[in-house]
Amino acid sequence: MITPTHSLACELLSLKKDMSNHEIPELSALNFFPESLDYASLKNAAEGCKGCELYNNATQTVFGAGGLTAELMFIGEQPGDEEDLAGLPFVGPAGRLFDKALEEAGIDRSVAYVTNTVKHFKWKPQGKRRLHERPNAREVEACLPWLAAEMDVIAPRILVLLGATAAQALLGKQFRVTKERGVWLDSPMAERVLATVHPSSILRAPDPQEREVQYAEFVQDLRTVAADLNLGAQTRA
Ligand code: SF4
Repeated sequence: MITPTHSLACELLSLKKDMSNHEIPELSALNFFPESLDYASLKNAAEGCKGCELYNNATQTVFGAGGLTAELMFIGEQPGDEEDLAGLPFVGPAGRLFDKALEEAGIDRSVAYVTNTVKHFKWKPQGKRRLHERPNAREVEACLPWLAAEMDVIAPRILVLLGATAAQALLGKQFRVTKERGVWLDSPMAERVLATVHPSSILRAPDPQEREVQYAEFVQDLRTVAADLNLGAQTRA
């Protein structure tokens, strides 16, 4: 049930963030929202979220991390195996590739806030390994209120969506990262919005040559972001 204390999140979901096409399930993150929608309260409340079944098999909630006044926000899909254990986003293999690409593009990760669309690790067993499983539409919808609240508190000027799950959750199911990556998009969510691939997709490239090509394209997309970030810094100087 959505109570009046959740009006900010509801407003975010229906109006400000242009999420009007979303059907938030009856049981969702909203059921676990705190009375006060400040960052610390939200993060703390998310730790106890049971808004969908994903908390059952995960170690912990992985909320976003980074500066609360960050101008730049990255949104990925969900925590992976290492993130689930560490409780931090983008610290596994894809996170390390992300860090390398950021450095090459000239972006200091410490100036950004990094988070995921879904806050619990979804996986299936394969031998001793925990194999990533893509969250389904219901799980994404159930978790979106946390992301909406993060976006509201951080209020980034530049929003970068990493991969199809984040892009389709925020820009609509018809959005295709393959067709519209690396360009500034018209969206009310932030002054600048750009979508690109998720670094984990580069790790899944079929061979080293293809991986190199995909990595170079990813760095190029990040350079577009870096150019705007630097322009913003110069304008403010
Ligand atoms: S994935 Fe999101 S909605 Fe589901 S239990 Fe975790 S925090 Fe709650």
